[in-house]
Amino acid sequence: ASSRLLDNLKDEIKANGLENEVQALVTGCFGFCEKGPIVKVYPDNVFYIEVTPEDAKEIVEEHVIKGRKVDRLLYEEPNLEKKLTEDKDMPFYKKQLRVALRNCGFIDPENINEYIASEGYLALGKALTEMTPRDVIDIMKQSGLRGRGGGGFPTGLKWDFATKYDADQKYVVCNADEGDPGAFMDRSILEGDPHSVLEAMAITGYAIGASYGYIYIRAEYPLAIERLKIAINQARDMGMLGENIFDSGFSFDVEIKYGAGAFVCGEETALIRSIEGERGEPTTKPPFPAESGIWGKPTCVNNVETLANIPVILTKGADWFASVGSEKSKGTKVFALAGKINNVGLVEVPMGITLREIIYEIGGGIKYGKKFKAVQTGGPSGGCITSEFLDTPIDYESLTQIGSMMGSGGMIVLDEDDCMVNIAKFYLEFTVEESCGKCTPCRVGNKRLLEILTKITEGKGTPEDLDTLEELGKIIKDTSLCGLGQTAPNPVLSTLKYFRDEYEAHVIDGK
Ligand code: SF4
Repeated sequence: ASSRLLDNLKDEIKANGLENEVQALVTGCFGFCEKGPIVKVYPDNVFYIEVTPEDAKEIVEEHVIKGRKVDRLLYEEPNLEKKLTEDKDMPFYKKQLRVALRNCGFIDPENINEYIASEGYLALGKALTEMTPRDVIDIMKQSGLRGRGGGGFPTGLKWDFATKYDADQKYVVCNADEGDPGAFMDRSILEGDPHSVLEAMAITGYAIGASYGYIYIRAEYPLAIERLKIAINQARDMGMLGENIFDSGFSFDVEIKYGAGAFVCGEETALIRSIEGERGEPTTKPPFPAESGIWGKPTCVNNVETLANIPVILTKGADWFASVGSEKSKGTKVFALAGKINNVGLVEVPMGITLREIIYEIGGGIKYGKKFKAVQTGGPSGGCITSEFLDTPIDYESLTQIGSMMGSGGMIVLDEDDCMVNIAKFYLEFTVEESCGKCTPCRVGNKRLLEILTKITEGKGTPEDLDTLEELGKIIKDTSLCGLGQTAPNPVLSTLKYFRDEYEAHVIDGK
């Protein structure tokens, strides 16, 4: 529908002889997926929702030519029964702060000039002409930025480690192997603002002394790949990538590597093996990639969302970034809001916001007025959070404390009709399927865990099975080699902790 809408808008603009004054352009994601397709009219800043291809004529004739807003396409706030014309007034956007997503939905991702006009490549210019690599690392440390891919490791410290090892070649890797079910944050950033990631990779390269970068992206993201390719070519043509950038003597270029969709390749050592053309299996750490990564050379792996924050930290300053968020988790976090929630979409919020604010204010509450049961964060590695924790401020520490984790940003809301045992089984099926099989606790242990869970959901479980689930889950966590196995039992353990009655009901009632 979106591409037909675009074609129709272009046709109407042409039919009315406006092609020299008005442009219809594709942008990245606005985040408000629930109400798409979305059309924004500039400079009026009017936000139209659920626009069909047939609406193009009215938008051009009424709004563009006559300056009258198309009332029926405006967002209506259900509680106020009030039509809102601009996104900033909508509850969905009010509590959001778009840093990583700052350009998504606002610029044409296929036009480097639009990125430059939005302060793009300013940070790279500043780093190369006014700062030493040490200055850049110090700013990153002061900002408090932590890895958004799930681990939450301080980015500046990671860069610092990579400077400690001398080598004739170092590498920067962008981890775009987004694999959590329901997560699409990284894809949206790459589709909506690919230059922000390229700029950040070049800044990382300058900071750690690397001249080459790899973008490891899953091949199932064709639009993101297409836009990345366009962006790379434009950046090379404009001298933002390649030899002697900004006449600084610093050279940096990137290459795209395709992942075949294995979840485990999101783990940095498996990702590195995959880039080398080897089987994507994790290796033991140490050595960490900062010491020995791609072909044994120091390598710094950062996730897409982490990278998208970096140019802003350099242009706005570490203090600005650190002023947003909670004490130990600075800045914002992008979440893919899905499940039984009214406003499904992509949201970016300051760390420290509560789950209640996300679910009820930004998300518009539970679908069909049903009762909230839990929210699953952290995807297959995370856990379920119950209503008693709705007012917990969201950051790395607090989510771990209540038995879940930040993960890469998947947030699936569950209502009173969802069976928590089935939810746990869904995630475990996923991780069993995605286990690389290298170590026994994960390869065999998780399979056994799933067998018991399946037995329970088929009404054939015993009370002892619940204890076995718990015991086996803990052993798998303690003994698996990589993060996939170490976190795979989390959905089972957290649902067992908070919803044991549902497990018992399966066992006792036999259904
Ligand atoms: Fe492979 Fe699982 Fe072991 Fe990780 S924990 S190395 S995914 S078998």
